Amino acid sequence: MNESTATWELEPAPESTAHVQLEKSYGNFINGKFVESAGGSKFSSTNPANDKVIAEITESTEADVDKAVKAARAAYDKTWSKMEAKKRGKYIYRIARLLQERAREFSVIETMDGGKPIRESRDVDIPLAAGHFFYYAGWADKLSYAFPNRNPKSLGVAGQVIPWNFPLLMAAWKIAPALATGNTVVLKPAETTSLTALKLAEVIQQAELPPGVVNIVTGHGEVGAAIVNHKNIDKVAFTGSTNVGKIIQKAISGTKKRCTLELGGKAANIIFEDATIDQAVEGIINGIYFNQGHVCCAGSRLFVQESVHDEVIRKLKHRMKSLIVGDPLDKNTDIGAINSKEQLKTINKYIEIGKQEGADFYQPECSVPSKGNWCPPTLFTNVAQSNRIAQEEIFGPVLAVQTFRTVSEVIKKANNTPYGLSAGVWTDKGSKIFNMTSQMRAGVIWANTYNKFDPASPFGGYKESGFGREGGLHGLAAYLDV
Ligand code: NAP
Ligand code: MG
Repeated sequence: MNESTATWELEPAPESTAHVQLEKSYGNFINGKFVESAGGSKFSSTNPANDKVIAEITESTEADVDKAVKAARAAYDKTWSKMEAKKRGKYIYRIARLLQERAREFSVIETMDGGKPIRESRDVDIPLAAGHFFYYAGWADKLSYAFPNRNPKSLGVAGQVIPWNFPLLMAAWKIAPALATGNTVVLKPAETTSLTALKLAEVIQQAELPPGVVNIVTGHGEVGAAIVNHKNIDKVAFTGSTNVGKIIQKAISGTKKRCTLELGGKAANIIFEDATIDQAVEGIINGIYFNQGHVCCAGSRLFVQESVHDEVIRKLKHRMKSLIVGDPLDKNTDIGAINSKEQLKTINKYIEIGKQEGADFYQPECSVPSKGNWCPPTLFTNVAQSNRIAQEEIFGPVLAVQTFRTVSEVIKKANNTPYGLSAGVWTDKGSKIFNMTSQMRAGVIWANTYNKFDPASPFGGYKESGFGREGGLHGLAAYLDV
């Protein structure tokens, strides 16, 4: 890395929004149609990069949820569970192909509604979402090969509740395996990012799925609770915070509902002295500043071996100076807008806590737009294991750095968290990687890379990061009685 290179001023290169088609106001998607709520109100979905209202969305009522569950039940009983598996696969392929065809429109809407850089929605979110539909379409007629001699059977109606950090991708993670296994769906997107789920409803219409197989109801947490608590739901799939995960687990205990929970994280990214340092620095940047740190598996705790600490921090700070914070629709932007004012408040609260706890604070100078929600990449060094910024999920571009000397020390420190979703290890030695991965309590461990996903590989956590797996064969099992 040439540390003397100054960064250039790049000309703005914003993606066009002219091709995007959005309604002014959206109802729910129930039984194959967009319908207005009987008693519900509307709320605005705004662009977190400029505070402009993009569309009005429905705050659903319990009656709307009931209508959606009834539609899903009828579709399950009458068509979807009885349909030849091959034909179900065909519908799921159609969704995948339509998403691919409309990828540009979906990427732009995802970025406008959620604040993530267009580079990410274009290169990660939308292609991976299509990829999940392709992958699970292929399994639809091969379930008896996936689970030989186990007579796999669908569960019924799945109630699915998802967060705002990967809106379309989380919808795909939930809907694709549910459909492939013969279940029908009622899904609630997060209140700040419902638009791509509603656009997905359009795709589902375009793909001519039988009415009621997928239903999408929008609104706040109470709507999620109404889905979870509905007596006619057979399976609950939730991705979100550990707090809400605990509420859900309590709510369904004593019922026959099946459940998977994908919750929070506080991942350790571990750099050994024998790692390729420049590559590791890129991995750190990708791990925590990627998507504004709005990533459950973000590498938010960095452990650096003492002997290379100064070099890593010097290079990291240098690289942080070159990160571009600003218009998410600009393809040169590295760090987009924080998803909501509330989330920005939480992040700023933790930055204050970090300073008060006595850690060393660093933010590169960067100019941000006057409107919208912004947080520069933030680094805390000299962090103690007991500091709250090293223990609690911040869900923003804030990295807490600690050092270590030995392998056993870093394993102990890395595992010392209530979470266990993901981790990263950077070293030149394969044996060290195997040693580390076998002792660390995390669902996914990346070696010499970070934040890599594939529809075929399962994802999920240990401890307070939840249970159950999404993706791969494991993701099918979560929607089947075997
Ligand atoms: P959240 O507050 O738990 O919300 C998640 C979803 O649940 C939203 O749709 C939310 O609606 C809804 N909800 C809120 N209260 C509910 C209740 N009592 N019953 C049922 N549903 C309820 O989480 P978030 O702040 O949106 O997302 C960030 C969290 O998600 C982080 O902790 C992150 O680590 C986690 N996450 C985990 C994974 C994973 O795979 N493990 C992936 C992504 C994110 P509203 O939008 O209206 O609040
Ligand atoms: Mg929004």
